[in-house]
Amino acid sequence: MRLILLGPPGAGKGTQAEYITSKYAIPHISTGDIFRKNIKEGTELGKRAKSYMDQGALVPDSLVVEIVEDRLKEADCKEGFLLDGFPRTEVQADELDKVLENLGVSLNAVINIKVNPDVLVSRAVGRRICKNCGATYHILNNASKVEGVCDKCGGELYQRTDDVEETVKNRIDVYMNETAPLISYYSSKNVLVDIEGEQDIKLVFEDIVKALRG
Ligand SMILES: [Zn+2]
Repeated sequence: MRLILLGPPGAGKGTQAEYITSKYAIPHISTGDIFRKNIKEGTELGKRAKSYMDQGALVPDSLVVEIVEDRLKEADCKEGFLLDGFPRTEVQADELDKVLENLGVSLNAVINIKVNPDVLVSRAVGRRICKNCGATYHILNNASKVEGVCDKCGGELYQRTDDVEETVKNRIDVYMNETAPLISYYSSKNVLVDIEGEQDIKLVFEDIVKALRG
């Protein structure tokens, strides 16, 4: 199964990625992770990426694609992969197509988890996290028994500073603007699968499995 996972911040992409990679026994390829790994291991690609980052510059598309290509050639990707965080632009999507063509494979689906921006804002703004054990709560649908106190360990609950309305809205806007061209790109290639992301996470996953079964 060769897949790309798209979804706005707060859509529950991480959880679905875990379910998908475990069910289909494919690696979860997040560009952030492979960048960090290449840099940590001091690979040639890692060194080149780091030289851009050290200058505070964006790593150019061509290098991002090279790093992903390098990863896709590893043995564990033979039966498939789940790409997360890549491609981000139409240029990258185009380049990815070429890479896959060279490898003699093609994408099975691009999974697009859809959640209304208002819902994303409400999810993020109501989120509370335990300072002590990291457990997460939500003031509306998963509140702690005592306000501000963790059920599990009694620790103090706090709100992340970037979970305030304006920051969340901005995060979502950036995502929407960035991803819109990708959605039409993959839609025109008939590989885009829209998934209703506002339901229970188990049901979201069931819909993904159904869609992949075709
Ligand atoms: Zn706790």
